[in-house]
Amino acid sequence: MPKITINERGAILINNSLSIDGHGSSSLRIVTHAHSDHVRDLSKSLTQCRGVAATALTLDLLTELGHTLSRGNTIRLDYGSKIRVDGLEVMLERTRHIPGSSQVVAVDEDGLRIVYTSDFKKPGRETPIIESDILIIDAVYGNPSYVREFDDYIESILADLTVQLLSKGPVIIQGYHGKLQEVMHILRNYGIDAPYLLTPKTYKLTKAVEKYGLSIGNYFVLNSREGMELMRSNWFLLLDHLNSNYSYSLKELKASRIVLSGWEFKKPYRYLGGGRWLVAFSDHADFNGLMNYVINSNPKTVIVNSVRSTYADVFANEVRRITGRECIVMP
Ligand SMILES: [Zn+2]
Repeated sequence: MPKITINERGAILINNSLSIDGHGSSSLRIVTHAHSDHVRDLSKSLTQCRGVAATALTLDLLTELGHTLSRGNTIRLDYGSKIRVDGLEVMLERTRHIPGSSQVVAVDEDGLRIVYTSDFKKPGRETPIIESDILIIDAVYGNPSYVREFDDYIESILADLTVQLLSKGPVIIQGYHGKLQEVMHILRNYGIDAPYLLTPKTYKLTKAVEKYGLSIGNYFVLNSREGMELMRSNWFLLLDHLNSNYSYSLKELKASRIVLSGWEFKKPYRYLGGGRWLVAFSDHADFNGLMNYVINSNPKTVIVNSVRSTYADVFANEVRRITGRECIVMP
């Protein structure tokens, strides 16, 4: 049996050979995607592990987010390519979460298959459900009440609201890195061709994402000549990070504001007052989506990573009740 542990920082360690989404004393560190809760202690891994592996897009996004990577200590691992780490054969598989995201498959010498889903949405449709013997999952929405009945329609609801608000003037959209790029792409697919105005960091991340095939187009950085000209027009979408105060500092700008939140479950959107709207747009499967993955992956054992979960114990009980399988919460 492989030795699997999860430490207090959320790092998943397999046989002291592989650490995923956190640092541990291991030969190889994998980063499944560029969100900060999966990138913890990266500088330690860059100096102490033999290598850090991720998809090419994730490596580029990490660089744009300020991490110092070099060719010498990083390994570009494309979806489906295999790499051997001590006795493990390791592979990344696609997920629908943010651009560049992956899940991890590690097969040991006895053919035992360990899968870590990392963050995902739309399991079985845009995120492949991988059969496993041991399934490691972050129960981001671990409580059975965390269900969004409208998830399948949220993209068109967001597009409709954006069109409606854009007819009155500029619109600011606030969300996390990765989610913003995903939303820009979705709105283009819904025929919204208004220019995007981006803060410098969002601009760089968008450039990186486009390089790997996610088409967005017609976007400008705020401090450029085109950007400043567009600011004087009344027809643009300004994308800003959720925790940034940048768009609030533009006092003269009269714009509607859409805040993207993964923590709304009752209604797809609601008015917050003061020209602000909250849209329940998440990059994570809800409770039902998580359970759907567990059931169809058909593992003998499920491990719930409590560091990146909510209600990990509740989720584990539900897994035992629904699937009858062993379920362990770590750490
Ligand atoms: Zn994430």
